[in-house]
Amino acid sequence: MNRDCGFNTRILHTGHSGGFAQREILPPVSQVTAFGYESMEELERVFSHKSMGYAYTRIGNPTLSAFEQKINILEGGAGAVCTSSGMAAISSVLLAVCKSGDEIIAGRGLYGGTIDLLHDLDKLGIVTRFADVLDGETIKSLVNEKTRAVFGEVISNPSLNVMDLEQAALAAHEAGVPLIVDSTTATPYIVRPLSFGADIVIHSTSKYINGGGNSIGGIIVDGGSFLWDFEKHTALSEFKKYGKHAFMIRLRTDLWENLGCCMAPMNAFLSYIGADTLGLRMERICENADALAHALDGEDVEVNYLTLASHPYHEYVEKQLRGYGGGILTFRAGSKERAFKIIDSLKYALIASNIGDVRTLVIHPASTLYMHSDKEETEAAGVYDDTIRVSVGIEDKDDLTEDFVNAIRNSR
Ligand SMILES: *Cc1c(COP(=O)(O)O)cnc(C)c1O
Repeated sequence: MNRDCGFNTRILHTGHSGGFAQREILPPVSQVTAFGYESMEELERVFSHKSMGYAYTRIGNPTLSAFEQKINILEGGAGAVCTSSGMAAISSVLLAVCKSGDEIIAGRGLYGGTIDLLHDLDKLGIVTRFADVLDGETIKSLVNEKTRAVFGEVISNPSLNVMDLEQAALAAHEAGVPLIVDSTTATPYIVRPLSFGADIVIHSTSKYINGGGNSIGGIIVDGGSFLWDFEKHTALSEFKKYGKHAFMIRLRTDLWENLGCCMAPMNAFLSYIGADTLGLRMERICENADALAHALDGEDVEVNYLTLASHPYHEYVEKQLRGYGGGILTFRAGSKERAFKIIDSLKYALIASNIGDVRTLVIHPASTLYMHSDKEETEAAGVYDDTIRVSVGIEDKDDLTEDFVNAIRNSR
């Protein structure tokens, strides 16, 4: 494969190196629980990793492998593991790296489910220290001898804070811990966090990677370059002999397998096909989102979108996001009542809690996604009682902007 080919070419022509068994052009759906062998010796060799092969879908499955390989190549990783959901990916990574008594530094303004998960980890003795802004200085100020990981979202959903990946990676590495990022909203089309120094990248593939809103899933991509200190990362010390690959081996052969959070083969197939059009969809989605944000900016609502000159992270659009603002925008309607009225009168946008669909989706996050979070956490996530989140789809731009502008004007 030519390393220098463009994103769309790469996405279409990788993920099945060597081809599939019967020369299928897509990975066959190995919708099976287990794989049968001619002799017990053969299966023993597979179990002891002496032969390549599959034994049981929770431990490995060729459809999952094809999907993992595709996303791994897009992110430029050393290995990937796909999971039953984005939350399963985040849980598996944090549980693989940390154990009771360890600490995580995380940005505030995270996805609601992630905040809930960090509270769950707290009950297991893995404590999170939150930074208002996850930049180099704040990371340095929160590091202590218990810190084992820095975790944040590349573009936070829905606050749209952008993490300075280079600075965050430097500060994390100085503290001897990996930078783990959730890049769901950014997608590998907009940014490859590993190339900016991040160590582990997570996606909820339920969103943009799948794109069609048909499968829950997640993926973990390991850059394979972080130098683990096994005195510090005792959660990995059993895997010391694998050096830089200790995390991936612990994840694949131990924690992920035992948590039992594998992706379903059919979901891997659907997400594989979905990923083929990621580049095209992101082009269109970002173009639509930019047009919609600029149109709404002229109305009596407060718009939050990265390409608006007024946005605090505007400079990162060029610096880190290849000129794109992503597919999410939020706006404040003035009151919860008005927000509901606007949402209910939209013709095209569907009211749904997902993001990253080809269809435009809207939601009132305060009454749904953040119902388990307190006021401080909710506001840190850029969510107020009058906030509407829009996940922009690929509809025709003019239809979309007209629909939103009408809904806003008619709600006065
Ligand atoms: C949706 C989402 C998740 C959780 O993913 P699921 O697939 O729903 O479990 C995590 N992080 C971000 C940024 C998300 O948008």
